[in-house]
Amino acid sequence: MPRFPTEADFPSGVRLLHDPVRNKGTAFNEAERDALGLRGLLPPRILGQDLQVARILENLRDKPSDLDRYISLVGLQDRNEVLFYRVLLDNLEELMPIVYTPTVGKACQEFGHIFRRPRGLYVSANDRGRVREVLGNWPHDDVRIIVVTDGERILGLGDLGADGMGIPIGKLALYSACAGIHPTKTLPVMLDTGTESEQRLQDPLYLGLQQQRLRGDAYDQLVEEFFDAVAEVFPKAVVQLEDFANTNAFRLLAKYRKRACCFDDDIQGTAGVALAGILSALRITGDKLGDRPVLFLGAGEAAIGIGELLVAAMIQEGWREDHAKRQCWFMDSKGLVVAGREALTEQKAPFAHEAEHTGDLVEAIERIKPGALLGLSAQGGAFTRPVLEAMARVNERPIVFALSNPTSKSECTAEQAYEWTGGRAIFASGSPFAPVDMSGKHFVPGQGNNAYVFPGVGLGLIVSQARECTDEMFYEAARALAAMTHEEDLAKGRVYPPLASIREISANIAEAVARVAFDRALAGVEPFEDLAAAIREEMFEPDYPDYA
Ligand code: NAD
Repeated sequence: MPRFPTEADFPSGVRLLHDPVRNKGTAFNEAERDALGLRGLLPPRILGQDLQVARILENLRDKPSDLDRYISLVGLQDRNEVLFYRVLLDNLEELMPIVYTPTVGKACQEFGHIFRRPRGLYVSANDRGRVREVLGNWPHDDVRIIVVTDGERILGLGDLGADGMGIPIGKLALYSACAGIHPTKTLPVMLDTGTESEQRLQDPLYLGLQQQRLRGDAYDQLVEEFFDAVAEVFPKAVVQLEDFANTNAFRLLAKYRKRACCFDDDIQGTAGVALAGILSALRITGDKLGDRPVLFLGAGEAAIGIGELLVAAMIQEGWREDHAKRQCWFMDSKGLVVAGREALTEQKAPFAHEAEHTGDLVEAIERIKPGALLGLSAQGGAFTRPVLEAMARVNERPIVFALSNPTSKSECTAEQAYEWTGGRAIFASGSPFAPVDMSGKHFVPGQGNNAYVFPGVGLGLIVSQARECTDEMFYEAARALAAMTHEEDLAKGRVYPPLASIREISANIAEAVARVAFDRALAGVEPFEDLAAAIREEMFEPDYPDYA
């Protein structure tokens, strides 16, 4: 297990207490206090990690709002990273909605107003020509995973500019908590290319560049310079693209996916999670993948990403490509995606089937008779009662995933899904919903949280030092996740395993991903004698080391 770095210039005294990577606060023992010049700088009683965790939880639970809990947790991360990860990992179900969606959305909206200390790297439009230098300022040199955004499409909240930095920070916290990637190997990056948010352009406390977004060549040059600088400064780093706007997301992924080990979590990670949920739901309905059509509300990054992976998965499971595509139907803001519709993007075109156009979701359901309805439209409440009743008419057990985030954008609530389908829906959502008791039955909605998949994928890429991240890796990741959903989860209607087993889930996904890298000659290291052991060896446990 990797330990915290113990360089020659190991800090002592107050510097040590202000070093979040090594600080143990009141848990420094007597010997450490003597050896490291801490005597008198701490209250005399030694409080071990368990008591520190109890104190943190007591404080957090006392806070008046989730945003206050977020601020408090970020403060802890700035003071004492090991304790932060201990608290997060041991209380993941409770705290993931704080460090990630939905609360992180609120935090990003308020970012400039709740700002305490900088975290991560800002590469701005003004840094063109010196991006390498900016990356060189990062204090850790063995960066293995970078999450980068330009803040243009933060969750379902739109362009938040540099305020979107909360997302890479939150995602990387989940990498460390869920997959045990050491925090010093993670790097959040904000590519600040400006914003078109009028509110931010006017806000005196906004922290990003108050200018219109770079577009065209100038934008592409900055991204290019960023990828070149990463290859030079952090050659072993995986790059996760995050919350870019639709057009840039597809474009950048296509441009860089063979040049660097990179993936787009909104497109591919979401697809892996959704596919795993569908594979599990099919165990309840008894259908095979490809038997019934899937209808998507929304045809953006997330929905198309899922469609593409579904097609790849159906082909893997023996269907012909034309059948696989024909089983995926999309509806966007302009209605059903059908052949002949004007100005269809490159991504939608393969899914534009010969059919009559309609803008009415109920009509589309009645015509297509989908086994599954997936919401990725960021249109809160779009799955109305008539929509869900239609799904219940054409299915014994309708699969309904309302995946839009944050909660306010969810296409329906868990309660609505169960109530309007007479308790027959197999429901999952993007943001968490509490269990629902209805007609004497206890339903536990699954959360199609990307955190089930991306940390394990990242870990698998890191361990195998993969040169490329492929769709097959996400297919295998989805199967590994679905395999961990047990019968007792399905009995409660839950299509994902409990988050409490996330470390095991991530390790299994990492193994599946690394296997693909080795099998396809994409790995940058020799195969391990015991891959599972090598993966577990890479995972850090948030326990304090002894320094004296
Ligand atoms: P996007 O902007 O690329 O796509 C949004 C799509 O919704 C577009 O195709 C748009 O035409 C369509 N749309 C808008 N209004 C509509 C309407 N009235 N009816 C039908 N379609 C409509 O965004 P995206 O990245 O695809 O994300 C969409 C949503 O999915 C967001 O809320 C995001 O948070 C969520 N998401 C969830 C997960 C998850 O749960 N694991 C992962 C990724 C994204």
